[in-house]
Amino acid sequence: MNKKRVYTFGNGKAEGQANMKNLLGGKGANLAEMNLIGVPVPPGFTITTEVCSEYYELGRDKVVSLLQEDVKNAIANIEQLMNATFGDIENPLLVSVRSGARASMPGMMDTILNLGLNDDVVEGLIRKTNNPRFAWDSYRRFVQMYGDVVLGMKPVNKEDIDPFEEIIEELKEERGVKLDNELSVDDLKLLVSKFKKAVKNQTGHDFPTSAYDQLWGAICAVFDSWMNDRAILYRKMEGIPAEWGTAVNVQAMVFGNMGETSATGVCFSRDAGSGEDLFNGEYLINAQGEDVVAGIRTPQQITKVGSQRWAELACVSEEERLAKYPSMEEAMPSIYAELDALQTKLENHYKDMQDMEFTVQEGKLWFLQTRNGKRTGFAMVKIAMDLLREGMIDEKTALFRVEPNKLDELLHPVFDKKALKVASVIAKGLPASPGAATGQIVFFADDAAEWHAKGHKVIMVRIETSPEDLAGMAVAQGILTARGGMTSHAAVVARGMGKCCVSGAGALKIDYKNKTMQVGDLVLKEGDYISLNGSNGEVYLGQIQTKEAELSDDFRELMTLADKYTKLKVRTNADTPCDAQIARNFGAVGIGLCRTEHMFFEGEKIKAMREMILSEDTEGRVKALSKILPYQQADFKGIFRAMDGCPVTVRLLDPPLHEFVPHDLKGQEDMAAMMGVSVKKIQERVESLSEQNPMLGHRGCRLGNTYPEITEMQTLAILGAALELKAEGIHTYPEIMVPLIGNVVEFQQQEAVIRTTAEKLFAEKGDSIEFTVGTMIEVPRAALTADKVASSAEFFSFGTNDLTQMTFGYSRDDIASFLPVYLDKKILQVDPFQVLDQEGVGQLVRMATEKGRSIRPDLKCGICGEHGGEPSSVKFCHRVGLNYVSCSPFRVPIARLAAAQAAIEG
Ligand code: ADP
Ligand code: MG
Ligand code: MG
Repeated sequence: MNKKRVYTFGNGKAEGQANMKNLLGGKGANLAEMNLIGVPVPPGFTITTEVCSEYYELGRDKVVSLLQEDVKNAIANIEQLMNATFGDIENPLLVSVRSGARASMPGMMDTILNLGLNDDVVEGLIRKTNNPRFAWDSYRRFVQMYGDVVLGMKPVNKEDIDPFEEIIEELKEERGVKLDNELSVDDLKLLVSKFKKAVKNQTGHDFPTSAYDQLWGAICAVFDSWMNDRAILYRKMEGIPAEWGTAVNVQAMVFGNMGETSATGVCFSRDAGSGEDLFNGEYLINAQGEDVVAGIRTPQQITKVGSQRWAELACVSEEERLAKYPSMEEAMPSIYAELDALQTKLENHYKDMQDMEFTVQEGKLWFLQTRNGKRTGFAMVKIAMDLLREGMIDEKTALFRVEPNKLDELLHPVFDKKALKVASVIAKGLPASPGAATGQIVFFADDAAEWHAKGHKVIMVRIETSPEDLAGMAVAQGILTARGGMTSHAAVVARGMGKCCVSGAGALKIDYKNKTMQVGDLVLKEGDYISLNGSNGEVYLGQIQTKEAELSDDFRELMTLADKYTKLKVRTNADTPCDAQIARNFGAVGIGLCRTEHMFFEGEKIKAMREMILSEDTEGRVKALSKILPYQQADFKGIFRAMDGCPVTVRLLDPPLHEFVPHDLKGQEDMAAMMGVSVKKIQERVESLSEQNPMLGHRGCRLGNTYPEITEMQTLAILGAALELKAEGIHTYPEIMVPLIGNVVEFQQQEAVIRTTAEKLFAEKGDSIEFTVGTMIEVPRAALTADKVASSAEFFSFGTNDLTQMTFGYSRDDIASFLPVYLDKKILQVDPFQVLDQEGVGQLVRMATEKGRSIRPDLKCGICGEHGGEPSSVKFCHRVGLNYVSCSPFRVPIARLAAAQAAIEG
């Protein structure tokens, strides 16, 4: 079988094209495509990604012999087009050897330029070009790159110095110069001989002189680089499979280092930061390849506008700018015009923002690469909507041009970029809730409230948080914890509040007694300033300027567009009128989960709640509950009012009661005084409430079933609030939700309490409200018996946090201790508390939905776990046929976009 391993391109022809990325890699496919559409590209060829797999199966020698013939022919093709000969002395052809995977892996693998040079060829090149400086500059670059990449001279440790760089530095010091281009031709020559000596010393071999030996060395090195540590790590981070392999591109060299009419640069068809439709980029005169990104010399701007903006930021005067750093538009106007026309052509062709590389050789422009440019969330939205308006793409395409998760960036405060540059990172944790926060350290909720009341901005620092810290978290700018994962209490609550949070920063030693936190030798105390970056988990010392997010018109238009295609509704998880309002502004059409326990923590409420819990009999509980009722009713009124006209699912009391009682002596003493009993009595009750395994203990509907008076009170509060609002003309659609059932009888008995209470209330008030009673599906048994459950329950809401916990048997509070190992060992691909496990937990969701609807065809099904705001999980919910997803307010736009994409994907 004759498999095609090599694809040639050049002079307006190509065997490949843009849609062959899997086979030719992104770079190779686009080099071919550029040829086909008339963009000038140096001729060359691409060895396919399949050969990379063969390389790892068959070994080097076998693959080299398989390729031998094809590569010789392809080189001959370049020779003919370039009118030069590979390995020839008088008229040499030089090539570059470049890696290129399917997905771009910037800077991960290596490129070798100027291949084909040796001591004789360099002399021939001088005779051919009459430019000894250029020839020796190219040669010394080649020996260094080849030594580093192919001969393994590059140090593995980033901290260690590259032996070639060391030689250059030494020589520059000797000569008293700063920049490479200040070295003389003789110096460059000297560098080559020193480099080769270093190669001989370190590897024991002479530097290869035959062009073909060099070529095979370089091709194999590119294949080898697919498995280097950097590349492996990058693939792991980006989820790129090792089987994909890399292609190898061999391409005729064009030279940006031939003098003042030569240059090299990188450019973007739009601004990758802001999304502005502004051509921009950087270039360097008389330079090669990586010089622009390497930061050896200060690159100059391509456009005049860009150059002027740059000068302003760099405090460079207009005269100095023109003299030292003119834009390409000013310095090389005709080349600039050509470049500008071609970048437009490429953007129009690919219908997306392009990131391009080019080189100018003695006044002639060549393109070396183009790809769809990476961009910020802001730019993503702006570019998608601009392209749509320009008629370049259609609505559906525009919706897919934005990654839902990237919308997060648009919704939270951000750090001032300049300020962030000089900030020092003192610790790193998990990016638990995005955004930027800066403030003074406090360790306790009371302190947070106190400092906040005095007008301070605070960061709440805790080992971990619990519901008692809620009030503190609410007033803090951000939350930092030493323990806990992405679904720890701190993380979930912070995301719900749209507040920045870094969790699980293990390096922190927090001392509550002395109110200090220590990282290494650094000790910070209450009141010291720190800053948090919830988007990458970094903790900085001191204050860093932040700015509020502003929602752009483009963002709003994108959301409107999403709604046009969506089938899945997006609701929010909200426990306060303020959160409900935020979510409504982001487009939520209801509340999918209103937790009632958070309402109990403020001031008098917690006292009445504790009194209820600590009561010994029903009578005592009823008395205490009657104190809670008006508070709870008022809370519901606030939320219902904010959600006028929308459904609100209220979950009955869920957490274990011991979370509400005082565990410290002072709290217990206060409690005893208030209730008129002994401290000992209180302590005994607290003790009796403690459980071995509270997550599986006395919580959820088990509370309501053992203390029906709680359910009664909550029903009165919910429906009482709705009735009062009805009188004001506000429409409320309460959905009362029983948590944590596993057995239909658990549900039925609660339902009976709710309905009886409602009847009594309606009779008493002479008015009524329509409401439904449904359940959470969060215990596997409930999912397994969903048909039975649906015979009574009017709706299902999948509580996938608990459902994941109970399906995997992973405690969500303790997963942090083994999750990293599981991810590392590939036992798990992702954290199942963040991304819904479609295979296992998802099967329960699908099955329960189907079983439920087999009994009750119009059964309303939704999801209210953390997964409701995670794009791949949202798409799954669409496919399963759920009616809605519910997520924290700041994830509502993300879910809306993901839902639209899911509907379009079908
Ligand atoms: P990366 O993927 O790291 O960008 P590239 O293969 O694109 O690596 O090459 C690195 C640099 O060398 C780029 O600036 C590119 O434009 C330049 N380069 C690559 N091949 C050639 C060539 N044949 N002629 C001139 N410059 C080249
Ligand atoms: Mg490149
Ligand atoms: Mg639950």
